[in-house]
Amino acid sequence: MSWSGWCCKTCLARQDRGLYQRGSAIGGVGSPRQLTNCPWCGSPIDAGRDIKIEPFAKGRGRTFIYCGDLLGRCPFSRRNSPEGLPVLVVDEEIYRCLPALLIATVDKFAQMPWNGATQMLFGKVDKRCSRHGFHCPDLEDKDQHRAVGSFPTARSAAHRPLRPPDLIIQDELHLISGPLGTLVSLYETAVDRLSTWEVDGKRVRPKVVAATATIRRAAQQVQALFMRQVNVFPPQGLDVTDNFFARQREPDDAIPGRRYMGICASGRRLKAALIRVYVAYLSAGQYLYHQYGQAVDPWMTLVGYFNSMNELGGMRRLVEDDVRSRLNRMEQRGLARRNAPLLEELTSRKSSTDIPDVLDKLERVFDPARDPTSPRPLDVLLATNMISVGVDVKRLGLMVVAGQPKTTAEYIQATSRVGRNAPGLVCVVFNWARPRDLSHYEQFEHYHATFYQQVEALSVTPFAPRAIDRGLAALLVSYVRLLGSEFNENSQAGKVTGTHPYFLAALNELSQRAVTITGSSEVGEAVRTTLEELREYWLNMTKANVGTQLGYKTRKDGKTIGLLRQPGQRDWTPFTCLNSLRDVEPSINLILDERGLGDIVVSDPGIEGGVNGGEQVS
Ligand SMILES: [Zn+2]
Ligand SMILES: [Zn+2]
Repeated sequence: MSWSGWCCKTCLARQDRGLYQRGSAIGGVGSPRQLTNCPWCGSPIDAGRDIKIEPFAKGRGRTFIYCGDLLGRCPFSRRNSPEGLPVLVVDEEIYRCLPALLIATVDKFAQMPWNGATQMLFGKVDKRCSRHGFHCPDLEDKDQHRAVGSFPTARSAAHRPLRPPDLIIQDELHLISGPLGTLVSLYETAVDRLSTWEVDGKRVRPKVVAATATIRRAAQQVQALFMRQVNVFPPQGLDVTDNFFARQREPDDAIPGRRYMGICASGRRLKAALIRVYVAYLSAGQYLYHQYGQAVDPWMTLVGYFNSMNELGGMRRLVEDDVRSRLNRMEQRGLARRNAPLLEELTSRKSSTDIPDVLDKLERVFDPARDPTSPRPLDVLLATNMISVGVDVKRLGLMVVAGQPKTTAEYIQATSRVGRNAPGLVCVVFNWARPRDLSHYEQFEHYHATFYQQVEALSVTPFAPRAIDRGLAALLVSYVRLLGSEFNENSQAGKVTGTHPYFLAALNELSQRAVTITGSSEVGEAVRTTLEELREYWLNMTKANVGTQLGYKTRKDGKTIGLLRQPGQRDWTPFTCLNSLRDVEPSINLILDERGLGDIVVSDPGIEGGVNGGEQVS
């Protein structure tokens, strides 16, 4: 069920036979161990013991995940269930078995032009094999299989399309903004179209439920993203402190709140201030821990929040060096000495398989009665906005924010990770050299008293010229390739005709959507013109060379030339399509060369600049 962009070894082995087109377009290689514990009984799942891969040629081509319960009491253990947990984690198995509930990230929209099998998620299947499940033209299977092992002969029969998804749930709607949101809303056009079906001559679109705690101008936002009207639930009511569904309460002993504190050390570098704040909190925590024991646990793990990887990396070095050595001397200042802090980070540098481990470490509690041989709890966690997404560790109570985050929504989301069970303390260390930070410092109290009001409107501009450059070709290909079976298979890219209904649907519906969302008929015209140019280019490609054929992707068969181009390889062509909606612009490595800059002496490599000789920053 988790459509998150990786595949397993069997898939790679089958890639040669054209059964699984992995290609560099589709994520990286991951592990089928997406679940660390059984969702039913909580027993740990061991990748070596509890995951069984049944190859395609000798079986159903499935990855079975069993509950690791050694006593075999769980209904999903190997003993009680032949297929284990009802969970699919390999892309191709998801297409063939089509689960009732699919969990994915919006990034995966980028797959639509690249992979014809994505149409199956919208119920567009053509056949069903009694052993392997559904197919579509781009996900081929043999029509007959001989009996093998315990499996009887299998054959494929034609199958009617299935009902497309009825309900789309978009969690954390506030994250779908900026360049990512703009592309998502563009690709969403194709998702919306593919999920639409006709009932008694009426077009039925899926229902969309979006969730967020921080949004402004929701109606415009939802219109641009999903082209739908918005109904807010729960309704706001007459009394801001009590709308029946939620009540605002004064913090007291039973319901602790969160305290915010601002520090602005004028004339000091941000990192110098940060070091002192870290040392003070860590050592004060230790002091209280000596007196009150486990009751102080919420303030023993310091969460450092950073607005960029660069700043976080700098702080990591400082914690391991400056903070560490200062902590050893804090006894002299009336606080407590603390051993070398155990540090972890929660950033995009961590792979998705490491993140559950970090979260497990965060759950470890400071307890004087702890078994000294058991693993130590974390002293410091350094995090970027990754922590704002679904990290729910109840014991955390202390956060230091380095510099005011870019948006208020981000600030609220990040800082509300602490102080869930115990009183929370958030300390924002401002950079006095940044005017925006200074302004936040000056209005600290008012800003925090009203910060839900300060949430900025998100910017989503799906039909802005640059968004059209980046995403419209992918959208056109998705329409033509995924709406039906005719042009679904890779080599069918060369068989298109310019007057086919799929082309016309793309032209009409996309330009109409542009008009509805932007309210400007000129934008609609611009979209239509661009689409006509793209169609022209595509049709020219189909008749380019004798002896070759046009595919969506280049094949190593000596004759298939790809229409689609990978970004970053060469210049941007009309049909360069993104692999991920997050990497809208490539990151650029800069090499800072200090030679020739004369007498600039950097005595203190800082976290703001990383101005060490010849160091690479990105
Ligand atoms: Zn279980
Ligand atoms: Zn089959």
